[in-house]
Amino acid sequence: MTSNPLITKIKIIGSGVSGLTTGITLLQNGYDVSIISKEHFKDTVSANAAAIWFPYEARPIEKVLKWSNLSFRKFEELAHNSNSGVSMVPFKIIEPVNKTPYWLHALPPKSKISHRSIDILDSKCNCYTYSIPLIETQIYLPFLHDTFLNNGGSIHYQEITDLEQLSENSLVINCSGLGSQELFKDKELYPIQGQTVKIEPSEGIFGLAFDELPSNTHNEITYVIPRTDCIVLGGSAFRNQYSQKIDKQLTQRIIERCTLLDPDLKSKTIISAQVGLRPGRTQIRLEKDETAFVIHNYGHGGAGFTVSWGCAAEVLMLVQKFFDDE
Ligand SMILES: Cc1cc2nc3c(=O)[nH]c(=O)nc-3n(C[C@H](O)[C@H](O)[C@H](O)COP(=O)(O)OP(=O)(O)OC[C@H]3O[C@@H](n4cnc5c(N)ncnc54)[C@H](O)[C@@H]3O)c2cc1C
Repeated sequence: MTSNPLITKIKIIGSGVSGLTTGITLLQNGYDVSIISKEHFKDTVSANAAAIWFPYEARPIEKVLKWSNLSFRKFEELAHNSNSGVSMVPFKIIEPVNKTPYWLHALPPKSKISHRSIDILDSKCNCYTYSIPLIETQIYLPFLHDTFLNNGGSIHYQEITDLEQLSENSLVINCSGLGSQELFKDKELYPIQGQTVKIEPSEGIFGLAFDELPSNTHNEITYVIPRTDCIVLGGSAFRNQYSQKIDKQLTQRIIERCTLLDPDLKSKTIISAQVGLRPGRTQIRLEKDETAFVIHNYGHGGAGFTVSWGCAAEVLMLVQKFFDDE
């Protein structure tokens, strides 16, 4: 029985990583699901991510760590499927000695490879090496898209400006990311602009992230993510910046910082630079809307892939509760 016997279908707004992952989870649990999206997945913010498993710029921390841990386990499984674009890779996370690595709690202990002290530019640092999921978005998003369709889902391309455009017999799952600023007048949502540089792929480059390099400004971070098609160098995190214009000076600073940590990157050819707007929010909104037949799942900041399967599992619980109530 449902709280509204007319509701039989589920419509998801959004075909980014949140919409596709939620869609697959609901289809595999027997629901009738379609996606309505303004953009093709190739044009979403999700397509701009590198991506690596790491709980970055997302809150509330306790829930983010729980969802990240659940997703980690799902990515470990997916790494056995050679079509998924997911692999487990050794990755160095470098932190100043005085910083508590909150993210450690989300990692299964067996994923630890090493932990040692190092000096970087005369600063003492902790270098944690863990085996973590690399999610190659250029392979993974098409994989999710095809999995969604092969499980019986359908996708329609349309911009929703009013919920009334969706038929009355549907429960809506809102995975519209930054689109919820407009669609749900959400004032807690803001862009976190991120720029990256892609250089030619190369064997033997180690993945690493260090957000406190002394030459980093407050809004700039340093990371190297080797993929099969390129090496992604990062990056930046400018809150409330809507521009998607490439900043050529920032491109230079990103390359300088990354080559400082790995001089082998210096000789590589630049493929492109790109800018994406992460859907930042005071905290991820994952709840049933009190005023409408809508369950929200958006505002994942810099961790949309990292929390994706955990959030989808929580949406499933809310959907089950919705259909069980009364
Ligand atoms: C440079 C950069 C690097 C990143 N690196 C990582 C990383 O390494 N690891 C990680 O976990 N995360 C990373 N992220 C963050 C991650 O990309 C986001 O958290 C994630 O993509 C959000 O996914 P989403 O599906 O919620 O939103 P989106 O991908 O933005 O998708 C939103 C969907 O909603 C649709 N939509 C919006 N409004 C409407 C409307 N009115 N009507 C119809 N459809 C609508 C859009 O068309 C789109 O399909 C990075 C982001 C950037 C920019």
